[in-house]
Amino acid sequence: MRIILLGPPGSGKGTQGGLIEKKYGFPRISTGDLFRRAVKKRTPLGKKVESVMNRGELVSDDIVIEVVRERIEMRDCKKGYVLDGFPRNIAQVHALKKIKPEQSEMILDIVLDDEAVIERLSARRVCSACGKPYNLLLGNSKEKDECDLCKGKLVSREDDRPDIIKERLRVYHEETEPLVDFYQREGIYHEVDGNGPVSQVFESISGILDKQLKQVSEITEALS
Ligand SMILES: [Zn+2]
Repeated sequence: MRIILLGPPGSGKGTQGGLIEKKYGFPRISTGDLFRRAVKKRTPLGKKVESVMNRGELVSDDIVIEVVRERIEMRDCKKGYVLDGFPRNIAQVHALKKIKPEQSEMILDIVLDDEAVIERLSARRVCSACGKPYNLLLGNSKEKDECDLCKGKLVSREDDRPDIIKERLRVYHEETEPLVDFYQREGIYHEVDGNGPVSQVFESISGILDKQLKQVSEITEALS
């Protein structure tokens, strides 16, 4: 089972992917994490990725696909895995279809409108001294501008600035939304309401996943 998480920045894909991993044992694969690891390990791929990122460019489809293929072919992905941040465009969708084509796919699209995304992301802060993350909407700092742990100053991340959020959303709509049409036609698309608390969103996701896994196991049984 290949589970693909879609959703704009700030929709909580990473958090939900982590919860799926915990409950179902399917590893969460984030392309961002894979890149950071490759860079840190100084693998040939890591060096390529690093030079691209240092130039402020996006990593090319070919490189992304190679990194994902390597990860998917590892043993812990045999039963299933969750993709977070991949595929991002139609070219990547088709490339992914060629990797382990025998695996069944399902799409979970965490839907959140632009206004809610901007509200959520612009409320994010990080401690400038110790790096602890905060969200003013969740009220998880006692002082609005001070870190609870070290009294450091809370600041916005560079890519959470309103103009940059808008640009990230524009790119998301342009590149990723065509995927929705594609997967809908394949009949493997599921929409999840991304509003509301993390636990509520995960409840919707679990409901869809449980149903899907039951179907898959029935089919496997019928075939054996
Ligand atoms: Zn701090």
